Amino acid sequence: MKRYECLICGEVYDPKLGDFEGAIEPGIPFDALPDAWVCPECGAPREEFMELEDLAKAVVREDSPATPVLATKFALLRSGAASR
Ligand SMILES: [Zn+2]
Repeated sequence: MKRYECLICGEVYDPKLGDFEGAIEPGIPFDALPDAWVCPECGAPREEFMELEDLAKAVVREDSPATPVLATKFALLRSGAASR
């Protein structure tokens, strides 16, 4: 089951644990949470939560190997142009 993280405070909803304060029993997926459920930490609505895997992907995408390779190519181009 997918975990969700609050974008406001970083609180993580883990379906395996449920939400004790919100009276959510363990095993309830995020999608099945009641509409009135809010972040137990900061009170943010469900819309402020993001799938943790997506968040991890977004972080990986930012410093993907393609970026340093491109930077190296540009550095080579620049040094090549400078020597000419
Ligand atoms: Zn929160």
